[in-house]
Amino acid sequence: MFESSEEIYGRVFADLKPRTPLPRIQIEFCRFANANSFIRLEEGRLHVRITDVLQNAPAPIQEALAYILIGKLYRKAISGNYAARYRRYLNRADVRGQLHMLRQARGRKFLSSPQGEHYNLETLFEELNHQFFHGLMSRPALGWSRRRSRTMLGHYDPSHNAIVLSRILDQASVPPLVVEYVMYHEMLHLRYPTEHHGARRCVHTPEFKHAEKEFPRLKEALALLKALPVG
Ligand SMILES: [Zn+2]
Repeated sequence: MFESSEEIYGRVFADLKPRTPLPRIQIEFCRFANANSFIRLEEGRLHVRITDVLQNAPAPIQEALAYILIGKLYRKAISGNYAARYRRYLNRADVRGQLHMLRQARGRKFLSSPQGEHYNLETLFEELNHQFFHGLMSRPALGWSRRRSRTMLGHYDPSHNAIVLSRILDQASVPPLVVEYVMYHEMLHLRYPTEHHGARRCVHTPEFKHAEKEFPRLKEALALLKALPVG
């Protein structure tokens, strides 16, 4: 029998919270720019907002996401099978393609100028391009992140073909070697695109790791990175 999304969430809720009366469930499919989903409990109403990419996903995928979201809401440990099932679906080539197009069409990328207060990302990129890639790598969009993230010092965004470095690196106390290394690492992501194997995303391929070892003073850069005196 066909189960509606609301029925799926009701069933999962009863499974995870058997003693709690079933709240009213409202599910909304939204035009997000990514695969994010949100859940909140408000005035006894369970409000779920899901990306419209999943609107036609098979019931087992909806069910897996329901377990993930309701589990998160109530801090309940759920079987790892649900997370794996959901991840595997998002990693499917057709779903990935759909999400990629979505990010391009809906996601806006706010990029700062490559010129920071201390470092210029364009200069940095071209120096490394010359040194390691025979100057042949075409320059992506380059910018500093808006937030001073310590956990994500850099990332390459294939949907917008952009390398973004954390603004926390743009200061005098950060040695040039560190900024060069982070930029080089992100350039390797551009050079060696992510491979997908089932549920696992293999971001650093063996070729990637091999190329990274060619960075001179790699150990020194990594040690500096660890001891980064950033405030
Ligand atoms: Zn990486």
